[in-house]
Amino acid sequence: MTKRFAAALDGPSGAGKSTVAKAAAARLGILYVDTGAMYRAVGLAVLRRGIGEDDAAGIEQVLPEITVTLRHGPDGQRVFLSGEDVSDAIRNDRVAQYASKCSAVPAVRAFLLDAQRALARENSVIMDGRDIGTVVLPDAEVKIFLTASVEARAQRRYHELQERGQDVTLEGVRADIERRDSQDRNRPIAPLRQAGDAVLLDTSSMTLEASIDAVLRLITEKTGVGQ
Ligand code: C5P
Repeated sequence: MTKRFAAALDGPSGAGKSTVAKAAAARLGILYVDTGAMYRAVGLAVLRRGIGEDDAAGIEQVLPEITVTLRHGPDGQRVFLSGEDVSDAIRNDRVAQYASKCSAVPAVRAFLLDAQRALARENSVIMDGRDIGTVVLPDAEVKIFLTASVEARAQRRYHELQERGQDVTLEGVRADIERRDSQDRNRPIAPLRQAGDAVLLDTSSMTLEASIDAVLRLITEKTGVGQ
């Protein structure tokens, strides 16, 4: 059996991390972990309780009352909030905005960290997020910072949301992406940034297939897996 390894895939909103990571993990037969879903589940819990997105003390008080767990099955990853499958309920921009605000609260990051590390201890993973290469798995064998221009990311997210039947405008999607980028980059704790030893992959003018191939190539280069 091949040695266990971790690939950390970080980058800004809408860079295509989840689509690329999911496909690459499926080709290699390893676990795909979407850590953003965990922050979204916390965001949803806070939103449902009517707590303000800037109320850090209120957000912190929610944590002892909830559990956030990931389960991996044939349909991929599902995320559970206190036992309820919220995988679909977390996929909208309001929850994303709450997730971004909650993720700047240190207690929220500490709350999710152990579960993320445990998954990488027990499985070979491709883990996507904002701080995987810098904080969660600083010893990951592969680190990739996946990015794309704001225009490219807004276009992709716009089409994705339209396909899901959400009533959005390109300008609105772009504004959401820019706001979240700025919040995620400028927070004092675990800000979004490229790890010193991460490879930068700009997918602005790459097709999805080319992005997946590039990630697989980097994983093979660093680990020998998939040769
Ligand atoms: O990746 P996704 O858009 O689902 O993430 C939602 C939010 O969760 C991000 O905007 C970010 O603020 C936060 N997040 C984080 N650290 C991670 C993953 C997500 O702070 N590892």
